Amino acid sequence: MKFEKQVLDLAIEIQQIPSPTFHEQNRAQFVLEKFKEEGLEDISIDKINNVYARLPGKGDKRPIIISAHLDTVFPIETDLTTRKKGNKVLGPGLGDNSLGVAGLFGLLWSIRSQDFQLPGDIWFVANSCEEGLGDLKGMREIAKKFGSSPIAYLVLEGMGQGNIYHKGLGVRRFHISAKTMGGHSWVDYGSPSAIHELVTLIQKLLEIKLPKDPKTSMNVGKIIGGTSINTIASEASFHLDLRSEKEPELNDLVAQVRKTVKDSEYSGLQFEVEKIGDRPAGGLSKDHPLVKLAEDVIKNNGGNAKLIVGSTDANIPLSMDLPAICIGLTAGGRAHSKDEFILLDPLQKGLTQLEKLIIRIFSDL
Ligand SMILES: [Zn+2]
Repeated sequence: MKFEKQVLDLAIEIQQIPSPTFHEQNRAQFVLEKFKEEGLEDISIDKINNVYARLPGKGDKRPIIISAHLDTVFPIETDLTTRKKGNKVLGPGLGDNSLGVAGLFGLLWSIRSQDFQLPGDIWFVANSCEEGLGDLKGMREIAKKFGSSPIAYLVLEGMGQGNIYHKGLGVRRFHISAKTMGGHSWVDYGSPSAIHELVTLIQKLLEIKLPKDPKTSMNVGKIIGGTSINTIASEASFHLDLRSEKEPELNDLVAQVRKTVKDSEYSGLQFEVEKIGDRPAGGLSKDHPLVKLAEDVIKNNGGNAKLIVGSTDANIPLSMDLPAICIGLTAGGRAHSKDEFILLDPLQKGLTQLEKLIIRIFSDL
């Protein structure tokens, strides 16, 4: 495949359009127009800015869905200037995930240039809401639309070449707040403090025993609260991040957290639990045919295959027991930072791996 130059140019063009989660409309419109220019079929955009297009195949094979997320973690006012430094191109959101979106086109161009017939359709999808509080909302819609009809869901990321995300880490996030009457630190001494009670609650939560297998974690990432040094705090809150490789263990942990919070309440102290993040867990075993095949293709095309557990759009189909993996196009680093960069040298190899993977999924699965 010899489209790496065009893919890079398109990636930069896409990267220049700000696209924070929940505000993907301009980037989505750009991709929609590109799909039209390419003369793809059944082009559409849905209410949450997922853009769909079909490349028709000539056989009775079930379709492959290949998706890449449009959204970035960067606020709308971020300076998106890109810089080239030897083998590196730097730019916020370039690797995560403008290059992934451009990769959809790279695949299309390559397939067309070789003039071979696909035995089934490929659906290209540029989707919204992968990052942060987007909670994989875009992918939820895609999985609802296609359900179990595809042979496989393939999620494309710009970076992380060689990585095969075959297990989706489950994540639940909560904002938990304490409320009391508050008062003066001396005059009202003895009446409940939201800060003291919050700290006591956190201590109890940290005593919950977490399973090692599947790996399960808990983190209090941020505490906010209080008024002044001589005030009994009337309000305090914290952010709690819970993760597990498996859904039942994660649900069990959530139930224990909720019960601990409830049991800690008394008259004069209220807790409120607000869920602010929800990504379901699920996965394919390392022996699943799709995982094996991806490993094989990467190895046979000059790559180092690595099985990874992570939180990607693939979580959604995986949580529904549908075959899905997420792979990366080139190498890069510093994702989600202003120094984010991609490496140019490995890009061609990544595009080749992608194309071979599609061909093998159609022929072998
Ligand atoms: Zn990404």
